[in-house]
Amino acid sequence: MTDRTTTPAPLVVAVDGPSGSGKSSVSKEVARRVGAAYLDTGAMYRAVAWHVLDAGVDLGDAEAIAEAARTMELNQSTDPDFERVAVGGTDVTAAIREDRVTDVVSVVAVVIPVREELRRRQREVIERAGRIVAEGRDITTVVAPDAHARVLLTASEAARLARRSGQLAAAGAGQQDAEALRGRVSGRDAKDATVSTFDRPADGVALVDSTELDFEQTVAAVLAAVDQQAGTPAVKGQ
Ligand code: C5P
Repeated sequence: MTDRTTTPAPLVVAVDGPSGSGKSSVSKEVARRVGAAYLDTGAMYRAVAWHVLDAGVDLGDAEAIAEAARTMELNQSTDPDFERVAVGGTDVTAAIREDRVTDVVSVVAVVIPVREELRRRQREVIERAGRIVAEGRDITTVVAPDAHARVLLTASEAARLARRSGQLAAAGAGQQDAEALRGRVSGRDAKDATVSTFDRPADGVALVDSTELDFEQTVAAVLAAVDQQAGTPAVKGQ
């Protein structure tokens, strides 16, 4: 018999938003606080991009890209404290963050069959985990529209550029040319916007604008939205 006093209640939290809105770091922290798994769907698109580059697939051949996505053997951790992504047994955790991957990820992400394949995999991960914070551009609207809580995390373009620039500096990436950074953040969002809407909340999705909030305040605002939508305090002991 299942011990109902110790089985955590299922909780699916969906978070989306544009590049640099803080959705990865905030979602990870929310996952830790509510004792849930964490799914970075962007890492899955990045894994397809890495795989396509590695296999020498023609970036103009949408059908070949779709086939690469369907046959890709992907292993991804869902622990908010341990990030690992492997494709066909190769650890690509660091490689998928390289500029050469970031620069082509939107090309693979706009291929509709790639999105269908990854959405199928994402729903499987969410179902299996039961208690999970999943983040990515179309999570609240397409992948998990029936999640217990759905949040769109935004910030002004200036705040997003400043944060991304700070993250890169902290990661030792050196000073990026302001134009190149704008291209990476805003240009990528413009390309992604052709297949995902993430600049305004869909019906039933809570909007958290982090422009004027620090990290801790943003986490608190997302947790408050989760509590309000899920109907029960998400953080134990509250
Ligand atoms: O979040 P991250 O910057 O790692 O996402 C990388 C890219 O993956 C995005 O620019 C977008 O092209 C794609 N993506 C997507 N749908 C998602 C998550 C990411 O199209 N749910």
